[in-house]
Amino acid sequence: MRRRLIVANWKMNKTASEARAFVARLTQLVPSTDPVDAVLAPPFTALAAAGQVLPAGSPFALGAQDLFWEDTGAYTGEVSAPMLTDLGCRYVILGHSERRKLFGETDAHVNRKIGAALRHGLRPIVCVGESLAQRDGGQAEAVVGSQLDGCLSGLSKDDVLQLTVAYEPVWAIGTGRAAMPEQTETMHRMLRERLSARWGGEAGQQVRILYGGSVTPDNIGGFLRVPDVDGALVGGACLDAQAFASIIATARIQRA
Ligand code: PEP
Repeated sequence: MRRRLIVANWKMNKTASEARAFVARLTQLVPSTDPVDAVLAPPFTALAAAGQVLPAGSPFALGAQDLFWEDTGAYTGEVSAPMLTDLGCRYVILGHSERRKLFGETDAHVNRKIGAALRHGLRPIVCVGESLAQRDGGQAEAVVGSQLDGCLSGLSKDDVLQLTVAYEPVWAIGTGRAAMPEQTETMHRMLRERLSARWGGEAGQQVRILYGGSVTPDNIGGFLRVPDVDGALVGGACLDAQAFASIIATARIQRA
């Protein structure tokens, strides 16, 4: 059975000092996540502080929000996979729609970043999702399928088994307008079938597929009832320790 995974994408929020206080409070609210995996993805500048206050045996793993595909060199402003693993990161979010829209990131870029993450033992959380115009134009599945193909191009089955996919419709991110669970059901089934067709049934069955887009403590239960939804990538609601703890608690109860 696939373990549930709940990921907190802090985006560009919280200084290192704020992160320290927040993580200390969160770990008090969430003493254990078993049988749920939970990941905190603070900004680069708060990764070390967050990692320092995570107690030994903490239920939370550390994740980054992006990386650059080279290990070292003249790439001003960039952060590499070995820099992240050195800070204790185990996961990295790649291809978030904000990176695609605001910073021109393409599927080919994401593909190179996935390669760098895997070379260094970081587990990529690969984001895909259609815009509202694409959904209204009846192209949602074609767009998302093509993003998956582009991002995962050239990967082996063993590589793919290290990944998590996050379906995040762009129109649902930060808008308060979450997708309907039925919409995620169709999309997640398509993604799983695509993984199976290209990398075999084991990949199709084992890769976790998260939903992301205006997830809250009130609506998480509906998403987790969809068989192919294995958890959530949470933005806004993860900045409130109580709300994020409540999302994790729902994931734990439903799976237990
Ligand atoms: C996200 O940033 O990936 C996200 C889903 O944000 P929000 O939960 O705020 O929609």
